Amino acid sequence: MDITQLGDRILSGDRRALARAITLVESRRADHRAEATALLDRLARSERQALRIGLSGTPGVGKSTFIESFGMMLVGQGLRVAVLAVDPSSARSGGSILGDKTRMERLSREPNAFIRPSPSQSHLGGVARRTREAVALCEAAGFDVVLIETVGVGQSETVVSELSDLFLLLLAPAGGDELQGVKRGIMEMADMILVNKADGPLKPVATRTCADYAGALRLLRKRPQDPEHFPKALTVSAVEEHGLAEAWTEMQTLTQWRKAQGHWARNRAAQARYWFGQEVRHALLARLESPQARSEMDRLAKAAADGDLTPASAAEQMLAYLNANR
Ligand code: GDP
Repeated sequence: MDITQLGDRILSGDRRALARAITLVESRRADHRAEATALLDRLARSERQALRIGLSGTPGVGKSTFIESFGMMLVGQGLRVAVLAVDPSSARSGGSILGDKTRMERLSREPNAFIRPSPSQSHLGGVARRTREAVALCEAAGFDVVLIETVGVGQSETVVSELSDLFLLLLAPAGGDELQGVKRGIMEMADMILVNKADGPLKPVATRTCADYAGALRLLRKRPQDPEHFPKALTVSAVEEHGLAEAWTEMQTLTQWRKAQGHWARNRAAQARYWFGQEVRHALLARLESPQARSEMDRLAKAAADGDLTPASAAEQMLAYLNANR
């Protein structure tokens, strides 16, 4: 593959080249990995930056409806919008949250939009790396906004928040007890809570839920990256397209403030540091996966189990083995 040519096509905003490059970064083949690394190094020089918006919420809360309406609004303002997904369930089932072609039908037909389903990979580490690199590719292709969607379960929110400039939590209108259903750790990640479905008979409940969450957010520890009145809770209706413009205005206010205060750049630097550490850990763990390393692990585990070696000295021998067999 001609990486120079592919890179140039991405820089010119060619969506097919972008799709092809994402397929390249998803590949596990060693020669593809080398090409992907070369391509990403090349594109890193473009220094284009998109606004990366992470979006999390449980199934059924209205994520795809929201992304469609919100994305259409942004496209209508002349912005180019990319949508990616981190889907922990696809790691298990091989399916994907954006795989269903009926989702985001209008947005997918827009020339200024790009939608890419989550890959089916065996573990979150692989999905995280692929998504991070796909975000970088979308930025190089000149997208103004990159939306990164995830289902609100387990660790995927951490992955998405470490990839995002803004992290949104989408919630459904609900009775008071549901408030406790949102884990504190997730609330602490959120820059904005959007209570969706604030329409029709659900509107009063949505308004009450929003007030409850606004109260809960005020009780959290103040973060340095937040101006007055943030994090915020707002009501929206993805179906009726209410509140979307207001939410976008708040996102821009927050972004501008963070850029002016240096938080934006510091956050991206901290994220690069985080992903560097993750890559090193990932690579070290991968070295335990070769058949030879596995059999050495088994041999030393048995020696430890039989009392022939202490766990610590068995581990030392394993590390010595890895150092000797690169
Ligand atoms: P996802 O699983 O989070 O992606 O949720 P979907 O976008 O697929 O929406 C789940 C259901 O909620 C669908 O039946 C939508 O029509 C409905 N829904 C989504 N947004 C709204 C909204 O703003 N108002 C109402 N009343 N229903 C909505």
